[in-house]
Amino acid sequence: MDKGVSTPFVFVGINYVLCLKLNLIMKNSVTYVLILMCVMMNLTPSSAQSNSKPKYVLAIHGGAGTILKKNMTDSLEKAYIAKLTESLQAGYDQIKQGKSSLDAIEAAIHVMEDSPLFNAGKGAVFTNQGKNELDAAIMDGSNLKAGAVAGVTNIKNPISAARAVMDKSEHVMMIGKGAEEFAQNNGIQIVDPSYFWTKQRWEGLQRALERDKDRAELDHDDKKAFLPPYKDEKFGTVGCVALDKQGNLAAGTSTGGMTNKKFGRVGDAPIIGAGTYANNATVAISCTGWGEFFIRSVAAFNVSAKMQYAKMGVAKASQEVIDEIGKLGGDGGMIAIDKNGEVAMPFNTEGMYRGTVTADGKITVEIYK
Ligand code: ASP
Repeated sequence: MDKGVSTPFVFVGINYVLCLKLNLIMKNSVTYVLILMCVMMNLTPSSAQSNSKPKYVLAIHGGAGTILKKNMTDSLEKAYIAKLTESLQAGYDQIKQGKSSLDAIEAAIHVMEDSPLFNAGKGAVFTNQGKNELDAAIMDGSNLKAGAVAGVTNIKNPISAARAVMDKSEHVMMIGKGAEEFAQNNGIQIVDPSYFWTKQRWEGLQRALERDKDRAELDHDDKKAFLPPYKDEKFGTVGCVALDKQGNLAAGTSTGGMTNKKFGRVGDAPIIGAGTYANNATVAISCTGWGEFFIRSVAAFNVSAKMQYAKMGVAKASQEVIDEIGKLGGDGGMIAIDKNGEVAMPFNTEGMYRGTVTADGKITVEIYK
């Protein structure tokens, strides 16, 4: 993607030489500038290039992990494609109406939080103690405001609670009971914790608990080499990044975390700079994957930093961060949209539920590598 940049410079160079020759004849600086502009407009292919490049306004993910075509039934694949499309459409409708990127993110994430297909809201995974503890964060790239909740058990749409923390409190992050109380006081929908129970996730926990038992029988060195028990339970966090008509970027992420998580474990999703980040000067990012590695890599902010300080494009910066996570032994992916509406969605797993919408409303959904 970065390669195309050099072509316009060659054309500008040719135009410049042409104009120098004309200048010798005319000696009139106004005419010279006019001719320079005309020649550049006619010959420089950059305008044609940028028109042909789609401008994206929104991207979503529904988690990355061991998602293989051979393990997928036709009906399940169709269900995922339909939900991802519905989510993209909901987000796009907000952008189209001139609403903010934050509104688009909330709308797109609600669709996935309300579906049992994803590990967020209704489909959240279980902790080691058989509970659902949800995390979410949202960030406004126009002013670097952010809100997050972690370890909440009764909030139907944690992304809205995160937004309330950002909009209606002086804090950035609230956890557990306090976050739940704050959400309730601010009109966020509360449900009985049993709302989050699904057979699929419950069975996922039982498998993980079985693996825990096998692991307990290993001696110390084998344990170290053994993969964490939740590794095989495919991820499914949801996230959205958006660019609105006002040019503002925003990012949001919502998750149930990882199956069999223990001791109040919190992942990267609600941590600003790790799983979620947005800055109008650079990029909006939402991550999914093995959260511990995304926290240690400060993944989302790292992409922004590479763009801001090393002047990298979004594709290179985000790919580098995923590669660095891979080298540490972590896996997952991320979605990124920059201030020009360029999107990157790198991942190092077998698949990542993902989709994009362009400014003219064209929706694309992908699942596998
Ligand atoms: N990143 C999430 C976490 O570690 C999990 C996921 O993306 O599926 O909590």
